[in-house]
Amino acid sequence: MQEELNRLKARLRRVYDLNAISRLLHWDQATYMPPGGAPARGRQLALIRQMAHREFTDPEIGRLLDALQPYAEELPPDHDDAALIRVTRYEYERATKVPEELVTTISAHLATAYQVWTRARPDNDFKLVQPYLERTLELSREVAMCFPGYDHIADPLIDAADRGMTVATLRPLFAQLREHLLPLVNAITAQEAPDDACLHAHYPAAEQLAFGEEVIRRFGYDFTRGRQDQTHHPFMTKFSVDDVRITTRVKEDDLSEALFSTLHEAGHALYEQGVNREYEGTPLARGASGGVHESQSRLWENVVGRSRPFWEFFYPRLQARFPQQLGTVPLETFYRAINKVERSLIRTDADEVTYNLHVMVRFELELELLEGTLEVRDLPEAWRARYEEYVGITPPDDRDGVLQDVHWYGGLIGGAFQSYTLGNIMSAQIFEAATRAHPEISDEIRQGTFSTLHAWLREQLYRHGAKFTPAEVLERATGQPLSVEPYVRYLRRKFGELYRLGSALTADG
Ligand code: ZN
Repeated sequence: MQEELNRLKARLRRVYDLNAISRLLHWDQATYMPPGGAPARGRQLALIRQMAHREFTDPEIGRLLDALQPYAEELPPDHDDAALIRVTRYEYERATKVPEELVTTISAHLATAYQVWTRARPDNDFKLVQPYLERTLELSREVAMCFPGYDHIADPLIDAADRGMTVATLRPLFAQLREHLLPLVNAITAQEAPDDACLHAHYPAAEQLAFGEEVIRRFGYDFTRGRQDQTHHPFMTKFSVDDVRITTRVKEDDLSEALFSTLHEAGHALYEQGVNREYEGTPLARGASGGVHESQSRLWENVVGRSRPFWEFFYPRLQARFPQQLGTVPLETFYRAINKVERSLIRTDADEVTYNLHVMVRFELELELLEGTLEVRDLPEAWRARYEEYVGITPPDDRDGVLQDVHWYGGLIGGAFQSYTLGNIMSAQIFEAATRAHPEISDEIRQGTFSTLHAWLREQLYRHGAKFTPAEVLERATGQPLSVEPYVRYLRRKFGELYRLGSALTADG
């Protein structure tokens, strides 16, 4: 068996390296490549991705997996080899079920659709992109239909990002969360809005970047195995467990932009830097799912990085870097500014309380598109109506409405948005479990120390990589199944105090 296992690992390493090379090409494209490089880079990326797909779907991998199955069945399920064989088989079956021709058609179509969207959005022209979106919907349905046996047509698409999650489990979970969020948003927005002018003085870029890097170094992000560069749409990427990079975007008139994107991407990167080095070169060497990954970006960005104890330590340091801009601004004013809650149009700028309502609008609309109960041509109107109903605001145009996110224009429809809300829900559940195990974590954060929290996350979560399913990871780390309760408790406590809300809204439960 050892020989088959070694042969499987050697094959998987080739796939892993090809994927890493394609990410390196993409990282360069999004950071330093001159615009003239775009056409050739597109071609080179397509070539490498096709090579990776072919390597991974080679029947020899299927044969090796079959040969190793009896060995895997003899092992305890949490043995690394058993997990490797199980996870590889799952990935292999997913990859081989979608015909290569369909994969090629989709990537060519999405490249065009994305280009059209980059013109349609600034021109506020949904009609321009509508036929492309209609085609994307068809192709998304075709992909889903490669996985017969689902209850809802979106299930296979959701499963690709958040394994084990289905429409049947997500709909009631999100509905439950919405019931808690709507009265909280109403109570908060009935109050006077905090003044966030202090975030909009002139903040030189270099000093902003230096501060963000000081913070994430304290979090435990290892700069000898990573680096930060600038880009348009920040992301984290990984070439190996020892080269995990992040990107950020600086606005000199908005202090929160670069800082919170740095903390967010660093959260993703801490997860990847913490994966067991033994898994390098295999499908186990990455986070468990989209939702679990997002739980870590949101934990470090929001639960830690927008908390009062965190700023009790860091605010004097921030003031020292920007004495003219913040020297006379009290901590309380700054803390309220970075936690301002408002009914707004743009998901990526939304605060912690309203953010998930933005996600729910998208999640429900894409389910309706996939079901066929909503036509693409009626999508802008449906978007406006749902925004009015959930967020309490109507987009004045499509640019800041249905055209705002890249997801449906550069990717399939279905399977992407649920991860954001799952991540938020899990972030509170995981942080609550960490502080239950180590009540000193809050005091450490107040002293700018994160080692207990980081070590607990590494031990409970990061080192396992993709060895366990999201549900297993969560149970193992927190002792509980996925629940909105810790997240609702967290929001009520934090924003109840911040906005001095009555006990009816802030009581636990
Ligand atoms: Zn993220």
